[in-house]
Amino acid sequence: MYRSVLVPIDISEADLTRQLIPQVQIHAKTAKVHFLSVIPSVPFYASLGLAYSGELPDKNGLQTKASQKLDEIVKQFDIPEGRIEKHVVYGPPKDQILKLADAVSADLVIIASHRPGISTYLLGSTAAAVVRHAHCPVLVVR
Ligand code: ADP
Repeated sequence: MYRSVLVPIDISEADLTRQLIPQVQIHAKTAKVHFLSVIPSVPFYASLGLAYSGELPDKNGLQTKASQKLDEIVKQFDIPEGRIEKHVVYGPPKDQILKLADAVSADLVIIASHRPGISTYLLGSTAAAVVRHAHCPVLVVR
């Protein structure tokens, strides 16, 4: 039985979530389930204060929006509240996924292979990096 399962969620991809739901339900029957949404860092040119940076939403605004979206997504999973933990962080998605996997002592990561429609055989770059570097089993959902 797994005790700590990490499920990274790309909040912009509803179809990916649909793929993940049955797998999470099967494998996380008694486990604590950590849902993670990573907000990629604001592009460096914006952080330098160059053109268009004024139009970017502020960090707190982004974080609130991402949290709300993640809440909606997590509601689609049939998991008791007490076994759910939600995380929203900034940074490079693959680094943050690997970092949280260690921090919560994940014994399983469940990740979708790539965006639907991108390719039927390739592994997306985030998924590939997690498979390569994680310290625990990784279930890649296709
Ligand atoms: P693609 O390159 O086709 O977008 P990815 O490897 O980036 O494929 O995405 C596959 C999976 O990686 C997603 O379904 C999700 O589980 C995870 N992932 C990607 N980006 C993020 C993100 N920003 N936050 C959390 N998880 C992510």
